[in-house]
Amino acid sequence: MIKKHGYCFIYSPKHPNKNCKGYVREHRLVMEKHLGRYLTKDEIVHHKNEDKTDNMIENLDLTTQAKHARNHMIGHKLSEETRMKMSKAKKGKNSPRKGVRLSDDTKKRISESQKRYWNSKNINTTNA
Ligand SMILES: [Zn+2]
Repeated sequence: MIKKHGYCFIYSPKHPNKNCKGYVREHRLVMEKHLGRYLTKDEIVHHKNEDKTDNMIENLDLTTQAKHARNHMIGHKLSEETRMKMSKAKKGKNSPRKGVRLSDDTKKRISESQKRYWNSKNINTTNA
């Protein structure tokens, strides 16, 4: 068994969906064994606990590419991307300055909306 990109791969040269080197991701093999058939390319095996090396059938969820993408958009995938962007921004040379400019803009926007809020409040109180 080899590990790559966080996945476990099993050498199975006779598998129809093996990669060029004859390996198949273990979680797909486990699901196929469970179903008694090969998975189609549109079928995705999702790790319920997000641990790509935890390939117990209880941790695996058969889904489609569309459903899977949607699940990840709502959940952890987004926060994962945000975290990656944040760590990249920390490493980047120009990003601290950018960050300051951005927060200045945000501050302006906040104070403006606060002004608007208080203006509308004043109007309301004078009307009432
Ligand atoms: Zn997933």
